[in-house]
Amino acid sequence: MSTTTGETMLRDALAQLDRAAERLKLDAWIHARLRHPERALVVSVPTLMDDGRVEVFTGYRIQHNNTLGPTKGGIRYSPLVDFDEVAALAMLMTWKCALMGLPYGGAKGGVACDTRRMSLREVERMTRRYTSEIIIMIGPDTDIPAPDMYTNETTMAWIMDTYSMQRGITVPGVVTGKPLLLGGSLGRVEATGRGVTYVVLEAAKLLGLTPSGLRVAVQGFGNVGSVAARLLQREGCSIVAATASQGGVANPKGLDLKAMQDHLREGGKLSEFRGGDRVSNEELFGVDCDVFIPAALEGQVTEVTAPRITARIVAEGANGPTTPEGDRILDEKGVLVIPDVLANGGGVTVSYFEWVQDLQFYFWKEAEIHQRLQEIMVEAFRRVEAMAREQRVSMRVAALMLAVKRVADAMRLRGLYP
Ligand code: NAD
Repeated sequence: MSTTTGETMLRDALAQLDRAAERLKLDAWIHARLRHPERALVVSVPTLMDDGRVEVFTGYRIQHNNTLGPTKGGIRYSPLVDFDEVAALAMLMTWKCALMGLPYGGAKGGVACDTRRMSLREVERMTRRYTSEIIIMIGPDTDIPAPDMYTNETTMAWIMDTYSMQRGITVPGVVTGKPLLLGGSLGRVEATGRGVTYVVLEAAKLLGLTPSGLRVAVQGFGNVGSVAARLLQREGCSIVAATASQGGVANPKGLDLKAMQDHLREGGKLSEFRGGDRVSNEELFGVDCDVFIPAALEGQVTEVTAPRITARIVAEGANGPTTPEGDRILDEKGVLVIPDVLANGGGVTVSYFEWVQDLQFYFWKEAEIHQRLQEIMVEAFRRVEAMAREQRVSMRVAALMLAVKRVADAMRLRGLYP
């Protein structure tokens, strides 16, 4: 039988944990406990389709660990969603929240469905039923969902409304990534790309590089990639290449991002932008640059593509963009890899700000959000870099060690119940 994506993801997540546990000499019971989710719920989601049929989808909500606080993690809608995938992603959320110093544990949810083949009303009915089914798990002080693949602020508005209707009061803090009008936060949309920018600038400083003239190549020009590109350009960097799913453009002198955005807004394809030469997704890896930002899909930097990367810094905007073989090659080449748990931690950090604002019904100014995000990102980067130096390990191993240690220390302090 072939291995599913979920099985591979869970196997990789467990192998990472095992390596960190060994280096940290973790107590056996804590290690064993962290290998398993704390609580997992599998639900049936019967949904009335527009043609009168009832389709039954399978949904999941898995909480990996709540030692540090309520659990937090996105909800994804994808045909590939299964128990193992959700369990692996929940574990990664525990590490990301712990690393960023947030008072959260990790969780994840999902429904196995193909929303591209569903009408908006069908997706809404499915979302509301799924919310009702997992309502025993979620809440502003227990477990707080957020958007993930193929879910967005509209999905969060439906979840918030369904939860609030059942409680009889309005509870904005039950989800983050909501529309601004319903208690969303300023700065949330660009938080992940902004966080990537802050850590890239720190990494450049570490290597003695100045931002002006730093050549950056971006894979994936969506929410994360386009924001990181825009903000890095504002810092003086030159964006020498950018791709989307059908390829993109490169220009060694730097792309005119404003003209590129106008072109995209008018419905043009990135690969048809005239301000540079066309590059395929394969060619992007060979583009001469100082910083490479994978901000599209998982599994992109592999044993085939990693040898062609010329950058000195790789900042993982996407989740899991580098395979273990790709990682080994980058490590051997001496590339400074800023791992996903750190590089894209800006998203969950501003989600945390959103939740705090919702609980207080008091909303912050955008400048305040940017400044607090910068402090948290820079601080996390420096902690990881110091750990990597002390332990002579990669930033990826160091980040995981710090995260696992924080959770394990908290578990030890709380003790074993009863
Ligand atoms: P998005 O859908 O806005 O953008 C994805 C971009 O990648 C699109 O431009 C798409 O065309 C492009 N793409 C798809 N396949 C590609 C390929 N083979 N080569 C090059 N480009 C390709 O998504 P996003 O919100 O920017 O998320 C990107 C990644 O970042 C995902 O891995 C996501 O899990 C991760 N992430 C996002 C956030 C967030 O807050 N949005 C937070 C943490 C992590």
